[in-house]
Amino acid sequence: MKITEASIWGIHLPLKEPFVVSYATFPYMPSIILELKTDNGLSGFGEAVPDEHVTGESFEGAYELLKHILIPEVLGESPFNIEHIHQKMNEKLIQNPSIKAAVDIACYDLMGKASGLPIYDLIGGRAHERLTYPKVISIGTPEKMAAQCTRALEEGYKDLKIKLSGDVQADVDRLHAIRKAAGKGVPIRVDVNQGWKTADQAKRALSQFDTLDLDWVEQPLAPHEFEAMNELRSHSSIPLMLDESVVSETDLNRAIVSRAADKINIKLMKCGGIYPAIHMAKTAEAAGLTCQIGSMVESSIGSAAGYHAAMARKNITSTELTGPLLFSCDIGNLNYQIPEAVLNDQPGLGINIDRVALDELSVKYDEIKGDLTK
Ligand SMILES: [Mg+2]
Repeated sequence: MKITEASIWGIHLPLKEPFVVSYATFPYMPSIILELKTDNGLSGFGEAVPDEHVTGESFEGAYELLKHILIPEVLGESPFNIEHIHQKMNEKLIQNPSIKAAVDIACYDLMGKASGLPIYDLIGGRAHERLTYPKVISIGTPEKMAAQCTRALEEGYKDLKIKLSGDVQADVDRLHAIRKAAGKGVPIRVDVNQGWKTADQAKRALSQFDTLDLDWVEQPLAPHEFEAMNELRSHSSIPLMLDESVVSETDLNRAIVSRAADKINIKLMKCGGIYPAIHMAKTAEAAGLTCQIGSMVESSIGSAAGYHAAMARKNITSTELTGPLLFSCDIGNLNYQIPEAVLNDQPGLGINIDRVALDELSVKYDEIKGDLTK
């Protein structure tokens, strides 16, 4: 089986509401969808969601690099040669993990379809009975965020993930309002998205979070602050998770050596896909860390890929792949039943692609055919 053709769509996934984090506001999510076709008639889908702030990629640049640099490398290859494909991609491009993830996910979708198995069965099987997801609450006033949390719990969510701004007093007010609304015992995790500027500011904030019974605090400081993260860990009993600090396996090794984290938020878009994500989870496990599979707000394609990776590894203990719930129109049908994402046993990703929606949302499109004599 050889990959013979590729199609690429640059799409704008419409958000129900603008997505606000400490460093940016997104009115829609730009995404790159990849379809790889093989000489035996199979079709596999992958996705790249580039993000200048996290992966260092722009939508336009990532699209062109996928088209001109990576696709020529995979045409003629068997999707089963995933190690070899990653080696080739890494030799051609030092970074650009999201477009490597698009190729990786499409290859796994093809492997699954060729073998008649869901992706999780190819990479470890069902290590979890269920995969839950939290309600993610964007930055707003304490009253608005608390009301959103109350509504989420009424809808059946079991966990809350709160985005914080970095303004310590405002964040403390937000969290007190949310804890009061949610009541005791509801798991709450927070994401500061690098919002605290110094270790002292972070210490001050964490000491005021002590009574709030938080599950963990994610990315309190700038990505390079590994030593300060180690200092924070000795200062606070709240577990700390690294997200933007750990893009690649090299970063993970640095986090382990500097004892900078209790948990790692792995994202397929940061590390280059399912294959490197599983490798990172194993490395983290050896160092005694647990992992989460998060997302860059991806469609059903990237989100399903993340859930397959999470399903197959025991030390991936939480997931946050809620992109499809934020879109007013998606291109796939990943099955969300609050508070669980349900993976079926269909081959590959196990989702159907809505080609009409894909065409409607696209702002760029290209087809690349391979040299069949290769
Ligand atoms: Mg995060």
